[in-house]
Amino acid sequence: MIPLGICQDERFKRHRTGPGHPECPARLDAVGAGLEDAGVLAHAAVIQPEPIDRGALEARHDPVYVRRFEQACQAGQPVIDVPDCTISRASFEIALLAAGGVVAAVGGILSGAYRRAFCAVRPPGHHAEPDRAMGFCMFNNVALAADAARRAGIERVLILDWDVHHGNGTQHMFYHDPSVYYISLHGHPEYLFPGTGLAEEIGEGEARGTTLNLPLMPGATDDDARAAFRESVMPAVRSFEPEFVLLSTGFDAHRDDPLGILSWTDAVFEEMLTQVLELADHTAEGRVLSVLEGGYDPAVLRRCTAAHVRRLAQ
Ligand SMILES: [Zn+2]
Repeated sequence: MIPLGICQDERFKRHRTGPGHPECPARLDAVGAGLEDAGVLAHAAVIQPEPIDRGALEARHDPVYVRRFEQACQAGQPVIDVPDCTISRASFEIALLAAGGVVAAVGGILSGAYRRAFCAVRPPGHHAEPDRAMGFCMFNNVALAADAARRAGIERVLILDWDVHHGNGTQHMFYHDPSVYYISLHGHPEYLFPGTGLAEEIGEGEARGTTLNLPLMPGATDDDARAAFRESVMPAVRSFEPEFVLLSTGFDAHRDDPLGILSWTDAVFEEMLTQVLELADHTAEGRVLSVLEGGYDPAVLRRCTAAHVRRLAQ
């Protein structure tokens, strides 16, 4: 089996966010350079993104919001919902394409076309709520991927999110759903956007215990991440026995990131991935889909993407 599917597309750069915005099209140049550096493209399957099916999208996002976003782009509106969600005329169409790319990757993994996949998409997704845009995110790509896996008959999906910001949207979408376990390592909400993700937030009703938040204090190091992973993440994943693993992959917990507050280095991202892959090989038949979220330092993005996909391709 081909080890890795990769979704990257020049069109993802057509979502323009305006001068000085950190979530800029050039991020994908850095990620693309990292993919080249990794030397895996010649042996990877190309995932061609198509716009996500509207019904699948609107099963997750309020149709009123979907329409509002579409109309905002058609009207040339500069922002949607909040000041940091700047948009351009193509943004709606590109957000459909990004979500469609991750859904295609789920299908490719489940059909056995490739074992794992990496989706270098924009806009990112984990802050997007059911009915509004937030934190540079319009549609929740990773949530839509989880939905696709569930629809295909997968019973237990793990979403592991190590973007430095808490994935409020993803957490809320599965807060009452015990079939999707959301685990997040992030900067403590008292110090960092979006202000959610306290350890006490653990899910509700029958989903109580299928949300795990590991907030880290400013300046937290690789060793802090390793301890959280060893003592909390891995035991939780082992007992949940996911059949499909989704990674919300941000590289903004790196010490060089301009938006983050943590002090991780390149090494810990690769170590965390290695542990997840080993575990997924045992419980999820190796099915791992990594979806790009944040990361705003070009050099970090390039290096960490290269190491990430090299490891995914092994
Ligand atoms: Zn982030």
